[in-house]
Amino acid sequence: MTQTLHGRVALVTGGSRGIGAAIALALAKVGAAVAINYCSRSSDAEAVARTINQGSGRAVALQADVSDSCAVTALVQSASEQLGPVDILINNAGIALIRGMDDLTEADFDKTIAVNLKSAFLCTQAVLPHMRAQRWGRIVNISSGAARGAGAVGVHYNASKAGIEGLTRGYAAQLVKEGITVNAVAPSLIETDMVKSGVAQSPSRIPLGRFGTTEEVAQVVMMVVGNEYMTGQTVALSGGMAFN
Ligand code: NAP
Repeated sequence: MTQTLHGRVALVTGGSRGIGAAIALALAKVGAAVAINYCSRSSDAEAVARTINQGSGRAVALQADVSDSCAVTALVQSASEQLGPVDILINNAGIALIRGMDDLTEADFDKTIAVNLKSAFLCTQAVLPHMRAQRWGRIVNISSGAARGAGAVGVHYNASKAGIEGLTRGYAAQLVKEGITVNAVAPSLIETDMVKSGVAQSPSRIPLGRFGTTEEVAQVVMMVVGNEYMTGQTVALSGGMAFN
């Protein structure tokens, strides 16, 4: 894997903390240069970039709201100028607004779809010209157990994550002959700010008896990125909560 990924350029959306930060560090470990996107927490993103740059890696922290098409164009251009054109895209940025059916507003629904789903479309479209020209690319979309299961966030979140799995299969089918794989990784209950801030207070629903770690998610992402033959799949990890 190190051979395939060394010198590649990766863009990780929402790489400032949580799952995205662990993926950024894992990619840097095998020699990829990493653009770490964030929305508002610049110091967190800078800290991840610093950790990589203080080792033997190359990283930059880049602000962009990935639900905004102009911001995504600028993000991909900036990553290309500073590190080189993007070969590996990890669509990880996401939000989990916890809402019951009776409280969910149209604005909540639209924002969730824009940040969790439209962003993946915008980022993918922006990196595809380079990937298609070189006939090599890796795209990993971070889904959730909520794409297929009940989840604890709400129907808007379920819809955004089911959508990202449809997007994954659609792009995979169209790009399979061009050396570009598109897969999804669907974690459930990983110990990050998203979970600690309200999705689950304790791991009592998890058969394994604990939350997953961000490193365990990154490990699956690296397996997917290193595999040329697998495309259009969703790989789930949930401590035994679901087997789909
Ligand atoms: P997190 O700790 O809350 O981190 C979210 C990340 O997304 C942060 O880097 C944040 O940037 C970024 N972000 C949010 N909105 C953005 C926007 N509009 N533009 C750019 N970046 C944005 O979340 P996490 O738990 O690591 O989740 C990462 C992904 O995994 C999400 O897609 C989430 O739905 C999915 N997931 C998580 C779990 C879980 O158990 N944790 C389970 C299933 C799926 P700032 O730091 O700048 O705010």
